[in-house]
Amino acid sequence: MDPRQLILANIERARPYIDMPDNIYLKLLKPERALDGRIVIPIDDGSWATFNYYRVQHNSHCGPTKGGIRYHPDVNRAEVDFLSMGMTYKTAVMELPYGGAKGGIAPCYDGLSPERIAFLRDYFPKKMSLPVLERLTREYTEKIAPFIGPYKDIPAPDMYTNAQVMAWIMDEYSKIVGYTCPAVVTGKPIVLGGSLGRNEATARGTFFTVREALKHLKRAKAGTVVIQGFGNAGAIAAKLFFEAGFKIIAVSDSKGGIYNKRSGLNPDDVLKFKKETGSVVNYPNADFISNGDILTIPCAVLLPAALENVITKDNADKIQAIIVAEPANGPTTIEADDILFDRSIFRIPDILANAGGVTVSYFEWVQNLERLDWTEEEVNARLEAKMKNAFNKVLAESKTNKVSMGTAAYIHAGKRLVEAGRLRG
Ligand code: NAD
Repeated sequence: MDPRQLILANIERARPYIDMPDNIYLKLLKPERALDGRIVIPIDDGSWATFNYYRVQHNSHCGPTKGGIRYHPDVNRAEVDFLSMGMTYKTAVMELPYGGAKGGIAPCYDGLSPERIAFLRDYFPKKMSLPVLERLTREYTEKIAPFIGPYKDIPAPDMYTNAQVMAWIMDEYSKIVGYTCPAVVTGKPIVLGGSLGRNEATARGTFFTVREALKHLKRAKAGTVVIQGFGNAGAIAAKLFFEAGFKIIAVSDSKGGIYNKRSGLNPDDVLKFKKETGSVVNYPNADFISNGDILTIPCAVLLPAALENVITKDNADKIQAIIVAEPANGPTTIEADDILFDRSIFRIPDILANAGGVTVSYFEWVQNLERLDWTEEEVNARLEAKMKNAFNKVLAESKTNKVSMGTAAYIHAGKRLVEAGRLRG
């Protein structure tokens, strides 16, 4: 299922449970404001290249808009529109004082030869040199500067953008406004106002929601964990669950997975092995398992932490986890959500399970605005409180309406958006 359709399907499912006036429903269907244009810069091979850029602000009922900036050869306006809509619901689920936004850059392929298109797709952004990436980022910042700002719209990293890119945006924006303005972006390096705990926040948020789910299901013991995807979200989740006494029995990356049911896996060792060899596959003392089969291993907690669309109507009836919690965006289709719900498998949907990242981004923004400097313990404690609150609000909607946690998350978010929209008139 197309991830955009997934967001729309979830919104439609939640709608009967929300008293949503037509004007608000219609406002939420399309972005409030969108900016797109072109940037022309010299690139590493000496030629000039044109890039399409986007910044889309979906809805600001609950506050300034917030969302990442993605550098990817396939970024396009329709995708950015839907991603910004997803951010509106994610910030609303977490009860953050934000709306949703998203931005991105991709090469412009209009009128180019197939060879040139292939070159640009391969080049951007992975092979672009730092000076060219910096120039592109600074030109982009100049273009979007009138539309962003600490009280308007606050970008953050997303696919193939990182703390360095945020530092350039902050610097360029600061030059334009004439003072250092850290609160214009989040996900910055610590020395420029980034927050401690931001790097681990997504996985830590997932961990807190799973702990709440186990309490709800009255399961006292830490159990077994299976993780598809051993990147930023998956590997950090493995470490957090391991340290809390869970047994990590299988993990995977794009090349395949490893499985040791009897003695489990030590995530630090697996990470070291992956750094040395490029993959978790061939890790000693573990059997190979495919990325398809890893999802159906019997376990307490299954974490899809790689791709969208991996739990579908074709395999949902084979999932043997007690809890499915989603660090990845869109791993479960709407049909699979129905199947898991009918089978009483407790699914913690992506907009809740992976919202720790945007929540700590919010903490970073608060610290910047107030010139505060929270310790990592303080950040983690605040994150725990926000995750618990959101989890229990969504759980309450799920129980009251007898719907899955997936639908309940959109009910909780939708109600909040309606209330804010009504009050603002
Ligand atoms: P990443 O690139 O660091 O890691 C992705 C991992 O998935 C890698 O280990 C990769 O090898 C693996 N992978 C790729 N194809 C695979 C396949 N076919 N089967 C199994 N594994 C495969 O990315 P990330 O930052 O960890 O993000 C992972 C997911 O989590 C994405 O859906 C992302 O949108 C979502 N997410 C991440 C964050 C964050 O803060 N990192 C926040 C919110 C959502």
